[in-house]
Amino acid sequence: MRLILLGAPGAGKGTQAEIISEKYSIPTISTGNIIRAALKEGTEMGLRAKAYTERGELVPDEVVIGIIKERLAQDDCREGFILDGFPRTIPQAKALDEMGITVDAALSIEVDDSEIVKRMSGRRVCSGCGASYHTEFKKPEKDGVCNLCGDDLVIRKDDEPETVKNRLSVYHDQTEPLKSYYKAAGKLLEVKGQDKVEDTTALVLGALSGI
Ligand code: AMP
Repeated sequence: MRLILLGAPGAGKGTQAEIISEKYSIPTISTGNIIRAALKEGTEMGLRAKAYTERGELVPDEVVIGIIKERLAQDDCREGFILDGFPRTIPQAKALDEMGITVDAALSIEVDDSEIVKRMSGRRVCSGCGASYHTEFKKPEKDGVCNLCGDDLVIRKDDEPETVKNRLSVYHDQTEPLKSYYKAAGKLLEVKGQDKVEDTTALVLGALSGI
């Protein structure tokens, strides 16, 4: 299975990606997580990306296309993968096509902007492995601690309300047109994001069973 997850920031892509990843035994490739890890390590790519991510803007296409090219060439992607957060622009989608990569589906998780703003205030991520949590909808077993690796859960800098507004407008301007792009290719699947993680998962797995 080669899958693209589309949807606004905070729609639940990362959470659903973790579940699909486990069910189908394929890796999730999250450009956001790769960029955050690079920022933490202070690599050259991380330094280039810093100002963009902090403002809630997109990192230049050539940077993320480079990241994806390198990552998809690794062995664990041979049997399939989930792309979480890539592509985010039409040129990125075209670059993926030009790499000769055909996806089975682009699944969009639809959530209204007002709901996104509410959700983002409770979002937490693991500072170690990048796993996502929510204070109400996806609580860790132990407060403030990652179930998977035991590192601290933190609030992402770009989840501040002002930055979220900017990220949403970037999503509508630059990423939402990808729905038409993949619809034209006959690859678009749409599900409505639900309050409960497991209810969204049921819709996602139902949609994927048809491909
Ligand atoms: P995410 O965790 O997917 O919300 O990504 C966090 C931030 O990383 C975004 O707001 C962008 O600044 C950057 N980013 C992640 N993926 C991409 C992408 N495909 N294209 C451009 N910027 C990206």
